[in-house]
Amino acid sequence: MTSTRREPRLKVAVLGATGAVGQRFIDLLSSHPWFEVARLAASERSAGKRYQDACRWRLGTPVPAEIATEIVQGMEPDGEMDLAFSALGASVATEIEMAWANAGVPVFSNARSYRLEPDVPLLIPEINPEHLGLIEKQRKFRELPGRGFIVTNANCSTTVLAMALAPLERIFGLRRLSVVTLQAISGAGYSGLPSMEILGNVIPFIAGEEEKMEEETQKILGKFVDGAVQPASMTVSAQVNRVPVFDGHTESVSFETTRPASLDEIRDALATFRGEPQELDLPSAPARPVVVLNGPDRPQPMLDLYLENAMATIVGRLRPCPVLNFKMTLLGHNTVRGAAGGSILNAELAMARGLFGDDL
Ligand code: NAP
Repeated sequence: MTSTRREPRLKVAVLGATGAVGQRFIDLLSSHPWFEVARLAASERSAGKRYQDACRWRLGTPVPAEIATEIVQGMEPDGEMDLAFSALGASVATEIEMAWANAGVPVFSNARSYRLEPDVPLLIPEINPEHLGLIEKQRKFRELPGRGFIVTNANCSTTVLAMALAPLERIFGLRRLSVVTLQAISGAGYSGLPSMEILGNVIPFIAGEEEKMEEETQKILGKFVDGAVQPASMTVSAQVNRVPVFDGHTESVSFETTRPASLDEIRDALATFRGEPQELDLPSAPARPVVVLNGPDRPQPMLDLYLENAMATIVGRLRPCPVLNFKMTLLGHNTVRGAAGGSILNAELAMARGLFGDDL
């Protein structure tokens, strides 16, 4: 399977198509070689309206012409869809995503609802493609019909972190780490933060975020043994901050390896990291999932966020740490690799592995 165009393209639904992540899905899918948006779904507030009227489009590119005048629908499951991408908040995603899976539709979710369920893959294709093995168990356990299943994305700041940790854990082992985030306002969704609260300010709290980073990292980096994921054993301490940056999460990380490593070996492990998406040449795969920069003041959201089409974790300021062994600064795009782009890559991997069935 390569990134060549497939005809006919698979029909996809975008659940929550009008929100911050939903808009990224619409933008990224408009030129996708395998997937075509066939259903736009949002709340009852938006249902019945044309997409361009229902959504406050905030991306720097225009609303794709083929989508702009399409009518937004409600959330009723549609078994005619080949797959669904969910950009719903957890409060509504739990019920709606399972209803779609129960209609026989594979669902690729951005919500936290099912991330830590033992039968649901928390997938980052470069790191843990073998976790897709959970789907068989999930289908049996939840009695899902047809092609139905749920695969989740990590929380956006967890994705940025896990991409840089994976090669280090694989080669040197990780004993413990501390991460401090500076997270963009788009991470809170478009109605998330009043400008008077965030402009010129730093908010040292994002509900549930530190717990997500600590728990999800261990599941993502866990080993798949006897049909189950055994969480990784490193200790993770996260402290999170919301800062007045539009897109892009920055993270300062200090870490201790289990086995001795030099700075050059760490740099080399990060820069040469590759995974199954690169081997399979999946359409959304970055050539370099981790990009290492050498400048003394990089990475910066304003300068480096769109390297590798915003699908990589950018690493800079790699240096010794007097408390743990090493420290570094990470940057990643919260609504692209941390959400819609990551979900699309998950679906590409599932497709390449034949999980949608033989007839697709
Ligand atoms: P958002 O901007 O608030 O968008 C929410 C979407 O859900 C909108 O399309 C909205 O439709 C729809 N919706 C709201 N209430 C609904 C209801 N009762 N029934 C059906 N649809 C409803 O949120 P977001 O930032 O895109 O986040 C979406 C999901 O992605 C969340 O689970 C979030 O945690 C996760 N996530 C976000 C980011 C990020 O950087 N933003 C990163 C990773 C993961 P209307 O427009 O009609 O209200």
